[in-house]
Amino acid sequence: MYRTNSCNSLRKSDIGRQVTLAGWVNVTRDHGGVTFIDLRDREGLTQVVFRPEENAELAKEAHSLRYEDVIQVSGRVAARPPGTENPNLATGDIEIIPSELHILNRADVLPFPIDAEPQNEDLRMTYRYFDLRRPRLAHNLRMRHRIAKATRDYLDSQGFVEVETPILSKSTPEGARDFLVPSRIAPGRFYALPQAPQQYKQLLMVAGVEKYFQIAKCFRDEDLRADRQPEFTQIDIEASFVTPDDIFAITEGMLAAIFKAAPNADIKTPFDRLTYREAVTRYGSDKPDRRFEMELVDLGEIFRDSSFKVFRGALDAGGVVKAINAKGFAGITIGQADELTEIAKLHGAKGLAFIKIENGEWKSPIVKFFSDAEKKALQSTLNIEEGDCVFFGADKWAIACEVLGRLRLRIAEIQNLVGSGKGQSGSDWDFLWVTDFPLFEWSPEENKWNAMHHPFTRPKAEDMALLVDATPSSRGLEAAERGEAPRLRLSDIRAEAYDVVLNGVEIGGGSIRIHEPELQAKMFETLGISPEARESQFGHLLRALRLGAPPHGGIAFGLDRLVMLICGEQSIREVMAFPKNNRSMDLMTSSPAEVDPKQLRDLGIKLAKDQKL
Ligand code: ASP
Repeated sequence: MYRTNSCNSLRKSDIGRQVTLAGWVNVTRDHGGVTFIDLRDREGLTQVVFRPEENAELAKEAHSLRYEDVIQVSGRVAARPPGTENPNLATGDIEIIPSELHILNRADVLPFPIDAEPQNEDLRMTYRYFDLRRPRLAHNLRMRHRIAKATRDYLDSQGFVEVETPILSKSTPEGARDFLVPSRIAPGRFYALPQAPQQYKQLLMVAGVEKYFQIAKCFRDEDLRADRQPEFTQIDIEASFVTPDDIFAITEGMLAAIFKAAPNADIKTPFDRLTYREAVTRYGSDKPDRRFEMELVDLGEIFRDSSFKVFRGALDAGGVVKAINAKGFAGITIGQADELTEIAKLHGAKGLAFIKIENGEWKSPIVKFFSDAEKKALQSTLNIEEGDCVFFGADKWAIACEVLGRLRLRIAEIQNLVGSGKGQSGSDWDFLWVTDFPLFEWSPEENKWNAMHHPFTRPKAEDMALLVDATPSSRGLEAAERGEAPRLRLSDIRAEAYDVVLNGVEIGGGSIRIHEPELQAKMFETLGISPEARESQFGHLLRALRLGAPPHGGIAFGLDRLVMLICGEQSIREVMAFPKNNRSMDLMTSSPAEVDPKQLRDLGIKLAKDQKL
């Protein structure tokens, strides 16, 4: 037996007992020949004291111990001498007086001190197994386990069945590039790693499973931005004979169970709901952070007949004039104003107009263009007071909303409106449904319409006729040639699609699906997928829909992001055991790596010259 107890289990009541502990040397201190060791295992710390007067030989051996050596200690539990108790440690009343020491393994020179927060992330990733010994990361891994377990337990209690779907699968259009795996048996052919089990879970509904879930690995070959990983984990759910309300209820129950199990928070259900249109109109974002106000206010009525050309022009062109009032932000510095102007320009604005209210005066070059009536109306609509700073957006609806939405978030950050964000109680977590997303979105780069969620998403019943009527010519090809998003009815079609937003972060999304083969074919056609491509890419799905497919729908959650928020971390890398770095590399195993030429020959693959290292 390696041990009788964990390093976090001995208390005053154990004094006098003979015990054996095993673990890592967390800290070793030498106080005039007496060696103090903090012995660590995953549960905590216990102090072991080697006194020469008690056992000279052992004390000598203990002297050779270094940080992170692995040892086994047997001895007697003793009270710490009065005055040396440590109230911050669960085992702080006792210490071990050892009679035996076994050095199980020695540790080399450490890559970085385990008790500091290393700044060099590449170093952390190279020695990830060592990095993971740090209590913060160990805690994150255990939180992740608890969240996954609560998910499984809850969904099981609701009759959901966990079904594994293939990793060697076929390309699915979830909007990213696929990872491909060459086939040796069928040279020249490739599997794709699943971007999500979307089609499989729909096929499981056709199979009569009715309630499916999976904690599923997903793979997307994207250029990595801050919070992305090439492989990540989803809580993936699908059910038959359901309406959006059924999916909402399952989701809310599951999240309530997760938050009870992990941070022990009672979250408020049911969640509020906003349509996509309302969310963007009021917060300038389809994932609004509602923990602070600063809502976007429409000023169209006030400036409809204005002589201020910039505002009037935007309205005459069918656009909007909107503003946010940043309370107490009149002290904005030149640097901050420049930064906010850059943000506005980056998101499509031509510039940024704002008014500071200081010493009872409205300070801005645009104020002179406003009539007294306009000023008065502005003051009351925006509740303008001394110390405020008002930012304007005058543009097309989408641009004005996006720009003000981005400014709103940045200003909240500068003003520190949400504090550290490490929530513990239920009210720290603001959940929200965003519903009625557009079915399609125009891609200026590709010059075509794409599915905003994915091509299996159902139009809302009220908007169904718009899709059925859509013909290729109504996709506005002439407008497309001019490089503009055609103004036509396709963009008005709303989807039966929904996202769950938590504190301004999208944590999940899903939809009710198309279950009728004709409608699915129509959708593919509208997306410009040729009949041949339809057959080769989606033949299996279309055939399945013709064999008695039940109405169905589902949702998927980013497990990594959810765990990240619950753990109060800033990056999903902190809640994954072995993440890739921001260049998609696994520095620990040096992957991706070159392979043996024989392996390539077996696969019938020849590298182009410039790809050889
Ligand atoms: N498969 C979708 C996704 O990964 C989620 C869903 O529609 O259920 O975003």
